[in-house]
Amino acid sequence: MTGRLNGKVAAITGAASGIGLECARAMLAEGARVVLIDRAEERLNALCAELGPNARPLVVDLLDGAQVSGMLPRILGLAGQLDIFHANAGAYIGGPVQDGNPDAWDRMLNLNINAAFRSIHAVLPHMIERKTGDIVMTSSIAGVVPVVWEPIYTASKFAVQAFVHTIRRQLAPHGLRVGAVLPGPVVTALLDDWPKAKMEEALANGSLMQPVEVAEAVLFMVTRRPGVVVRDLVILPNSVDL
Ligand code: NAD
Repeated sequence: MTGRLNGKVAAITGAASGIGLECARAMLAEGARVVLIDRAEERLNALCAELGPNARPLVVDLLDGAQVSGMLPRILGLAGQLDIFHANAGAYIGGPVQDGNPDAWDRMLNLNINAAFRSIHAVLPHMIERKTGDIVMTSSIAGVVPVVWEPIYTASKFAVQAFVHTIRRQLAPHGLRVGAVLPGPVVTALLDDWPKAKMEEALANGSLMQPVEVAEAVLFMVTRRPGVVVRDLVILPNSVDL
C-alpha cells in the first residue's frame, strides 16, 4: 500500500540513525513530508539530501531545553503544518547499579524523559488548535518489564509509559492520539554499550530485530482510521525471554 500518509507532515526526533531514520523512510514512502530532527548535523544533512525533497533536516540538541521548547515554529517554517510527532530519540546505559555513573544517568534521563516530554509539550499548541494529530513515543519492552541488567534505562521507559497512558486520556478530547511502540532489542548504534559477549549471543540466537521492523509497527499505528488508537505496540523477537 502507498500514499497512506499523503498530505501529512511528520516530525521525528533522533532521526539521523536507527529506528528514527527507518521511521522517516517508511513515512516518506507512504507520501508524508518528514522533518528529521537530530543533533548530528552532518549526518542529518547528508541523509536528507539522499532521501529527497520531502525530507527536511532540523538540527536540535534535545538536551538544550530552550532549543526543544522553540522547535515548533522551526518545524512549521520547514513544513507548514504538523500531523505526526514521533518522540523517538533516546540513549541507553546498562549494567549493575553499583557500577553506574550518576552524571551519565542524568544525561540519559534528560534525553529519554525530559526532552521527550518537553518536545511533546512544545508541539501541542499546534495540534490542539487543529484538533488532530498523532503523538508516538518510542518506549521499550523495558517500559513494561523490569529488565534487571538495565535499571536506570528501565526506569526511564517506565516513566515514558506512565506519560503515554496519562496524556492519551488528557488529549483524546482534543482529537489527538497518543501511543507508544515498545521494541525489544534492535540492531542500532544504541546497543554499542552492550557487552560484546551479550551482543554475540543475541546475534547467534536471532534475538535482535532490524530497525525497519519497528518502523513498520509505527506505520501501523499512525495509519489507523481516525478515532482508533494503538496505545502500546510491543514488538520483540519471539526468542527473547522477558
Ligand atoms: P540510535 O543510537 O541509533 O539513534 C539515536 C539518535 O538520537 C541518533 O541519531 C543521535 O544522534 C540522536 N540523539 C542522541 N542524543 C541527542 C540529542 N541530545 N539531541 C538530538 N539528537 C540526539 O538509537 P535507536 O536504537 O534508534 O534508538 C531510538 C529509540 O529507540 C530510543 O528511544 C531507544 O530507547 C529506543 N529503543 C531502542 C532499542 C534498541 O535495541 N535499539 C530497543 C527499544 C527501544
